[in-house]
Amino acid sequence: MSGCIFCRIVAGEVPAQIVKKTDAILAFTDMNPQAPTHLLIIPTMHIGSLNDAKDPNLLGSLLAFARDLAKEKGLATRGYRVVLNTNPDGGQTVFHLHVHLLGGRVMNWPPG
Ligand code: 5GP
Ligand code: ZN
Repeated sequence: MSGCIFCRIVAGEVPAQIVKKTDAILAFTDMNPQAPTHLLIIPTMHIGSLNDAKDPNLLGSLLAFARDLAKEKGLATRGYRVVLNTNPDGGQTVFHLHVHLLGGRVMNWPPG
């Protein structure tokens, strides 16, 4: 997907602060952080949204990846939030599946 900003980050065409990478998953810092730690975890393959995700193993891997990063960043004990916005009502603005990992401050509930 040449027009997709996250595919362009995967391809190295758009710079990003890469935190961790496997063949299937990439994590990088959000350019507009909403918490002291705000990472995006994405599949390297283009998938538009959670609605389009067919492989439950990949979804599990994305969650485990976020959980492991939270541990590595020292967030696990205090706590953190994992968010997956889907389509306009869910607040999704980039249509390449991504998991937000937010931590380093107390999160409010309900979300806006
Ligand atoms: P969404 O609103 O779709 O759940 O989240 C998209 C996120 O991607 C936003 O938090 C936004 O700041 C981030 N984002 C959008 N474009 C870029 C970019 O080019 N680089 C990085 N690092 N983050 C981006
Ligand atoms: Zn993409």
